[in-house]
Amino acid sequence: MTTRQIRKKCQALVSALDLPRPFSIDAFVRQLSARRSRPIWIRTVPIGAAINACGLWIATESGDDIYVEEKTTRFHQDHIILHEIGHILCDHGITDQETQGALATLLPSISPEMISRLLARSNYTTEQEQEAELIATLIHTAAGMLTPSPSTGVRGELEAALGIRE
Ligand SMILES: [Zn+2]
Repeated sequence: MTTRQIRKKCQALVSALDLPRPFSIDAFVRQLSARRSRPIWIRTVPIGAAINACGLWIATESGDDIYVEEKTTRFHQDHIILHEIGHILCDHGITDQETQGALATLLPSISPEMISRLLARSNYTTEQEQEAELIATLIHTAAGMLTPSPSTGVRGELEAALGIRE
C-alpha cells in the first residue's frame, strides 16, 4: 500500500469509531470492548526494560490484553494504548519472536507454551506499525487530546496575562 492508501484506510477506521464525549481512554476502551463484544484490559507493567517496545497487545480466547510501560507519562501511556488499539482495529498479528523470553519473565502466569502459541504469528511489518501509529495519532487528534503547541505573539501574551499559560 502507498502512504496515501494507508492514510485513507486508517482515517476510515477512525471515523467509523464513535468516540466518547468527553473523551477519556477509559471510556473509549469500555466502549470499544462493548462494540467488539470482547473485553480489552489495560495493564501497566515495567515493560520497557524487558522488551524493546513500550506497549504490547496479546489476544487470548477471552479478550485482548494491552500491556503498557508503567514508567512513562500518562500522555505517553494514552498514546501507547491507542497505538495498540490501532493494531487491534487493523486486526494485525501479534508481536515478534524476540520478546518470547522477556514475556515469560514479565507474565509468569502465562505458560511458555501459551506464549509460543501467541507469538507464532508473524512480526509486525513496518506498514503495520505505520498504520497503528497513524490510528493512534488520528484518535488523539479527534479527541482533542494533543498538547497544544505553545502560543506565541499576541495570543501568547494574552494567555500569559490571563494566567492560562503553563
Ligand atoms: Zn506497534
